[in-house]
Parts: sequence; C-alpha cells; structure tokens
Amino acid sequence: MEHRDTIAAVATGSGGAIAVIRLSGPDAAAIAGGVFAAASGRPLEGERGYTLHYGAIRDEAGSTVDDVVVALYRAPRSYTGEDMVEISCHASPYIKSEIMRLLGSHGARQAGPGEFTVRAFLAGKMDLAQAEAVADMIAAEGRAAHALASNQLRGSYSDAFGTLRAQLLELVSLLELELDFGEEDVEFADRSRLQQTMEAIGTRIAGLGRSFRLGNTIRGGVPVAIAGRPNVGKSTLLNTLLGDDRAMVSDIAGTTRDVIEDTVNLDGVTFRFIDTAGIRRTDDVLEGMGIERTFDRIARAAVVLYLVDPTETGVTSRGAAGNSIEKPVGTAGTEQAAGAGRKDTMPDAAMIAETVGELGLREEQQCAIVVNKADRVTDADALARWADELKQFSGREVIVLSARQGMNIGGLIRFLVGTVETEKVYSGDPIVANTRHHEALTRAGEALARAQAGLRDGLAGDLLAQDIRQVLHHLGEITGEITTDDVLGEIFSKFCVGK
Ligand code: GDP
Repeated sequence: MEHRDTIAAVATGSGGAIAVIRLSGPDAAAIAGGVFAAASGRPLEGERGYTLHYGAIRDEAGSTVDDVVVALYRAPRSYTGEDMVEISCHASPYIKSEIMRLLGSHGARQAGPGEFTVRAFLAGKMDLAQAEAVADMIAAEGRAAHALASNQLRGSYSDAFGTLRAQLLELVSLLELELDFGEEDVEFADRSRLQQTMEAIGTRIAGLGRSFRLGNTIRGGVPVAIAGRPNVGKSTLLNTLLGDDRAMVSDIAGTTRDVIEDTVNLDGVTFRFIDTAGIRRTDDVLEGMGIERTFDRIARAAVVLYLVDPTETGVTSRGAAGNSIEKPVGTAGTEQAAGAGRKDTMPDAAMIAETVGELGLREEQQCAIVVNKADRVTDADALARWADELKQFSGREVIVLSARQGMNIGGLIRFLVGTVETEKVYSGDPIVANTRHHEALTRAGEALARAQAGLRDGLAGDLLAQDIRQVLHHLGEITGEITTDDVLGEIFSKFCVGK
C-alpha cells in the first residue's frame, strides 16, 4: 500500500462550465505542483492539507493552459486515505486533456474505473457495500433510489450485517469453546438457546432476502407494462405520463440495461415502461410480436396496467388469451343502465375481467384496469357503475381516466406509486438492492438452514460451528470482509472513471 502509484482522472462528465481533475497517491501534491504555478509563488508540495490555491496550469513551454483552483488533501484524511489533489479547471475538452497529458508526463497514471473508490475501500475508508453504494448514488435517478444508496453509503445497511455477524460469532465461539474441553462433554452452548438464536437470525436473513424485490425495483426502476387491445389509448397514456419528464436511459454504472426505455419519475420513484416500442406499435402486438411476446413482456413487469376503452363497440371475441376481444353487450350487461343511451353502451365487464385473469399474473405482480377515454362517455353514472362491475368481476383496482384530456392521471400516479413501499426506504430500513448481495444472502440462508438441521439432528459442535462459519463467510462477502480480486475487479469495472 505504501508504494502505490499516483492516479489521475477527470472526475466530471461532459458539459458544464467547470471540470474537476483529481489525483490520488503519495506523489499527488508533487505531480500537481509540477504543472501548477500558484499565484502565491509557493510550491504546492509544501502546503498544508485542506487548503485551496489559485494559480495557473503551465505547459512545458511555460504557456498558461488554464487558470485553476487546486484543493489539497493530506493522507489519511481524504476520500482515498491518500494525499489527494483536485484541480478545478474550465470544462473545455482541450483543457481537460491537456492537463491530463501534463500530469501524465509528470508521473501520474490514468485511473481505471472506480479506482479512487477501490483505494478508499482498501484503505478501510468504507466497506464493500458502501463502495458499491457510491456507484448507485451517482446513478440514482429519483428520491427513492437516492435514499437507498444513501442508507447504504452511510453504513446503516452494513450495520445490519455487522449485527448478524456478531451474533453468529458468539454462537461459534461458544461451540468452539466446547471443543477445547474435548472429552469432558460440556455444553457451553445451550442447545435450545442456540436453536432460538439461529431461528431469529434465519428470520432476519429471510426478511432481508425478501426486501430484494423492493430494493431491486427501486434501484433499477419499477417495470410497468401497459397492455390492452389496439386503439384503447396505450401510447397516448404513456405519452401523457412521460410528459416533460421524458427520459431516455442508457447504461448506468451497476445496472444492466440493454434496451433503451422510457422512464418517468413519479413521486421520487423511477418507473420503466418495458418494451414500450413494442407496445406502441400496436399493429405488431397482434400480428408481428404474437401473443407469446406480449405475455413475456407482461411477465417481466412488476405492475401491469390493463387499458380498456369503454366506448369500444362492434368487436367480437377472438378467443385468444391475452388478446381476446371483449364482446360488446348492453350497458354493463344489466338492464338498469339501459337508459344510458347508444353512446354509452360498454363492453362486457365480465369478459374484460376474464381477459385480465388470462394474463396469468403472479401473486406479486400488481395490476389495475385502467378505463381510458372517460371524456367520451356522456353518462358518468353509467361509467361509474361499469367501473364498479369491472372491479367486482376482476378483483382489481379500477382507475377511470382520460389519457388524452389528462383527466385523473393523478389517480393513476397514486396507484403506481402505491405499488412501491417507499416508506420502508425513507425510514432507513436495510433493504437489499444489489444482486450480488442477494445471492450472498441466499447462500448464507442455505448454510444457516444446514446448521439448523444439524442442530436438530444432534450434530457435533465442531460440525455445527463449521456450518455457522459458512453463514459468516457469505454475510462477509456482502460487506467485503471476505473478498477476492476477481470480485473487486468485477464490481469496480462498472464504475465510472474518476470515481
Ligand atoms: P393504442 O393503440 O392503444 O396505443 O392507442 P392510441 O394511444 O394510439 O390511441 C388510439 C386513439 O384513441 C387515438 O386516436 C387517440 O387519440 C385516442 N385516445 C387515446 N386516449 C384517449 C382519451 O382519453 N380520450 C379520447 N377521446 N381519445 C383518446
């Protein structure tokens, strides 16, 4: 660690007026000082930490490249734990590359992705979960994802694992103490207490494991599918939801997104409208994509909005699951609403409910029937009755709105936001949001189950202790007590350069 080289990178993205170039390593001050002429005339290397210096970056010929401000940090009190320098310069691509070139010629090496954070981790400034949170923090698009990353970065998330590890260590040490007494057949670890503690730990591990669904959807965005027959207004609704907040998401550190998706931030939560290109080309939904792809799209969604058009008439059933067409019958299929008149003749609620049932949604998938084009229905009472019937037949929430007129879009937004338990995030509960953590947690749970079974079967203390050590091992992978270069390489390769 003592002999590490000094790394440099542009820490800011493209655009903006000011850019920051950072250096970290034993020679940070000397290298920066080699290209920087302070207005004070004093060499940077001799300055104290936590000071700012105004001056110019000069090239080999002595010409000024830019006027800059240099911040100096001294080891160990810096992000990386090493000496660090941050040069604030003007954000021209030429200036940035020229300063980087000059720093390179004075001995700095271009930093790899996440290399500053790797150093922070290796210096014990943060654990692995916290280091990963740095990338999530940068990628967070909304308040909820930010809160998740922020909890993880501040260490409250790691604390949850620290507590579990401490409890497990206590169990192991009691069991191992018995081994020291070998022949004497003593039991320091009261087996029924052991059982209870393991059960409590198992419950905790399982709870954390379950939190992954929430964490993962918040971190990656909640996948929403808008389904429904052609012309019910799916793309109109999507455009209304996107409004000014239309965003194209490309690849973001720590997440894999191979398709460009429409995302929208609603009340701090990012929603991703999955495969919306397909949804938009409604002709293809029936012809090209086929039912299978429609179902696949729906299966990947956490939330399904099934759109219906109350004014749709003159269609007959095709009988195909998911794409079956509701048969129009007299208003809401009942006589009472017969006075509603020609215009307000609505499709059969029971058939729509059946179609929704045929979508094959899993229990954890949320679904609402969205009655669109409410503005086209003149009889509001008839519409309300029909919506009620839909609700009764389907057992789903029914939201009546007009995508084109922007009527009751708020109701839909409330439903969407309500599908995500954001309170848990904002209250700082530890929530697993990272696939790597979830996998380690799953393995920890399995090892614990083995230990519990062993305990029931009267397994010897040393073997029990081995199983519990396995649990500790897997929990340690999460926060990085246990790690390998491969794991580190994999994690930090997804970081941006300069972080
Ligand atoms: P999709 O095939 O399901 O994507 O449907 P579109 O969004 O293309 O809409 C089909 C037609 O319905 C278009 O002419 C829209 O303007 C119209 N439409 C969509 N939403 C509404 C609405 O809320 N009210 C009215 N009156 N028309 C709508």
